[in-house]
Amino acid sequence: MKNKVYNWQIKRKMEYKYPEARPQKQAAWVFDTNKCIACQTCTLACKNAWTSGKGQESMWWNNVETKPFGFYPLGYDVRLLEMLGPQKWDGDKYIGKTIFEAAPYGEEMLGWMPEEEDWAYPNMGEDEVNKQIPEKANFTLPHLSWMFYLQRICNHCTYPACLAACPRKSIYKRKEDGIVLLDQERCRGYQECVAGCPYKKSMFRAFTGKSEKCISCYPAAENDYQTQCVINCIGRIRLFGFKSNYDKPIENNPIDYFVHIKKIALPLYPQFGTEPNVYYIPPIHVPKEYTRQLFGPGADAAVELYKKAKEDKNLVGLLMLFGATDKIIHSFKVEGDMLDGHCIGYDGEGKEIVRVPLKEHVIIRKEYDEKQDVYRASVT
Ligand code: SF4
Ligand code: SF4
Repeated sequence: MKNKVYNWQIKRKMEYKYPEARPQKQAAWVFDTNKCIACQTCTLACKNAWTSGKGQESMWWNNVETKPFGFYPLGYDVRLLEMLGPQKWDGDKYIGKTIFEAAPYGEEMLGWMPEEEDWAYPNMGEDEVNKQIPEKANFTLPHLSWMFYLQRICNHCTYPACLAACPRKSIYKRKEDGIVLLDQERCRGYQECVAGCPYKKSMFRAFTGKSEKCISCYPAAENDYQTQCVINCIGRIRLFGFKSNYDKPIENNPIDYFVHIKKIALPLYPQFGTEPNVYYIPPIHVPKEYTRQLFGPGADAAVELYKKAKEDKNLVGLLMLFGATDKIIHSFKVEGDMLDGHCIGYDGEGKEIVRVPLKEHVIIRKEYDEKQDVYRASVT
């Protein structure tokens, strides 16, 4: 029997295999797509930490793909979008079908199984733009052609499709932090989770005959540290923390501020219905129809807000906190004004762990240093 559960991202109840059970707090990420440089340091940090063993050669729990033509595995999203049919929204309420509601008879959800070859080219389409720029074209806004980088990990969904798909009940969502884990003892390698996950973030390891997935670096998270993909990010585009329930957001919680207070960070493909917990600040130079398809009807407002972010001290301060500490920031406060103010991050006990300026100071030094009697040359 299917249960009716509330999904705040599509603003309505939907069908799911199990009753609604929200964790005390939810592990969640905010990624700023506008700042990513596709260096893949996050990808390698994750691989070094978790997937460098035998049989994990094509396994990338973290990947960064160039949209619109990047996919891992091949066509993972477009194939499902096509199968799902029209995805209609009425304002901010989704009135199309989720993958659970579109399930064929006898199945838990609409899904598909990639071929081995589909996993083999994780960075296909890197840096490709959507169309060729005509010869002698000038730079215009909006850009004639575009692309952007989409960073992807398991979404530690509130309604995980992988969990609903598993006939062995090997997958569970932790009550204390919402992290979704796959029990290697129970798994028998049926791969229903691989077919069921719309983001294709559960992967099969033939060497062990079991499936595996991102574990949200839980040993670190349990000790109040952010995940490897976050603390190693060169572009400082990532933040990891704990999100409150959608109906009780806390204004000084960094993740709540982005997701629920400002609504500037949005889930990827909310129409799938799994209530994913990685939240993206959408790219600002991409056609609106595309960002709406990826991030839902809130994408236009999020882009406008981001363009005006410098008018909001809290937003600027929080964006400056990305990559400033490896500890989890439970709350934040902004002091002072935009020119000489600071954003302060606190741990769970309210102790200050990091302080960053709202505006980075620029020091212009004279070419000739009288004290040292030397000339300084610009080496940049
Ligand atoms: S993204 Fe996929 S693997 Fe991760 S929790 Fe959601 S359904 Fe499961
Ligand atoms: S490390 Fe950061 S900047 Fe580099 S690809 Fe990953 S998310 Fe992007």
